[in-house]
Amino acid sequence: MAVSFKEVTKRFADGTTALDRLDLDFELGEFVVLLGPSGSGKTTACRLLAGLETPTSGRIEIDGKDVTHVPPRFRGIGMVFQNYALYSHKSVFENIAYPLRIRKVVGGEIKRQVQAIADLLRIGDYLHRKPAQLSGGQAQRVAVARALVWEPAIFLMDEPLSNLDALLRLHMRTELNRLHRKLDKTFVFVTHDQEEAMTLATRIAVLKDGRLAQFDEPKAIYRRPANRFVAEFMGRPAMNTLDGKVEGGVFRAGTLAIAVDCPDGPVTLGIRPEQIEFADPTADDAIRLVVDVKEPIEPDTLLIFQTSGAAPVTLRTQRNCDAIEAGQPVAIRFPKDVLHYFDASTGQRLR
Ligand code: ADP
Ligand code: MG
Repeated sequence: MAVSFKEVTKRFADGTTALDRLDLDFELGEFVVLLGPSGSGKTTACRLLAGLETPTSGRIEIDGKDVTHVPPRFRGIGMVFQNYALYSHKSVFENIAYPLRIRKVVGGEIKRQVQAIADLLRIGDYLHRKPAQLSGGQAQRVAVARALVWEPAIFLMDEPLSNLDALLRLHMRTELNRLHRKLDKTFVFVTHDQEEAMTLATRIAVLKDGRLAQFDEPKAIYRRPANRFVAEFMGRPAMNTLDGKVEGGVFRAGTLAIAVDCPDGPVTLGIRPEQIEFADPTADDAIRLVVDVKEPIEPDTLLIFQTSGAAPVTLRTQRNCDAIEAGQPVAIRFPKDVLHYFDASTGQRLR
């Protein structure tokens, strides 16, 4: 189903504004990821979409119909939350069957549908077990199966993987990708993990302080971040951002001088660690900086440089850095075509 948030504001009784005029439209079959730091309004957006909360102002539409005041059970949304709870006294089968029993689906049909969704999620062999006899990943999949078995039009997941260990998270991520391809439903998925967002989303909605910082395809968010916040939030390590001033095509911050394509004036210059290059020390555009810290994150290496009067600069490379030590000067360059420019006061992308 297509979903629209129209100028949705949510203010809680204590005065906290959790969402501030959120406008967000997505299409049938999309995998939309809500991404943002803790407290940015992700869970509130989910609860509003699900009907567990009512907006203070604005409205929510599903497939063009205003559902702002429609109760949760009539919205066709299946949900999995971070702290999903399975019924511990019921078998896996009965846990998954529960939404069908509520909907008075007949017995034979229940059996068929539970088996089908369980097979899809690769838990078909555990239907007789109790939740306590499952691993974390299996229990997580039972929660997903229970949310999907009655075939909701929209599948909503609020940080469903955050209680799993790293390896299981990766595995579930792959499963979710597969599930989305197979089911042709609209997925809305919340995470604060940018890598998870990148790999799952058709489009990512980045939230900051209850506002939409950017809504775009993962590669556009990475390549053309709309503002400094998104630029620094997406990518690990974070994009280098340097506050300085452009004069006659040269950006200066402290003793750094970098050739740029940017009009004169104060500006925040951005460059991703993986896009800084090693330079010939005699070249015109070579910048000599001293390595402060070297961090091997095999197969890559991070080099963190001191600058005088500007923020430290991080470089990420796949080159062998065995010969480079902390304290040593290294010549690097900032290629013009990978530089980002942000307004020094508002942080908005300049071009
Ligand atoms: P996220 O899921 O991105 O971490 P939330 O949507 O849970 O963020 O919260 C957004 C903001 O709203 C936070 O400042 C949070 O403290 C506040 N908030 C959430 N729920 C309530 C509530 N029931 N009452 C008051 N403030 C709340
Ligand atoms: Mg949350």
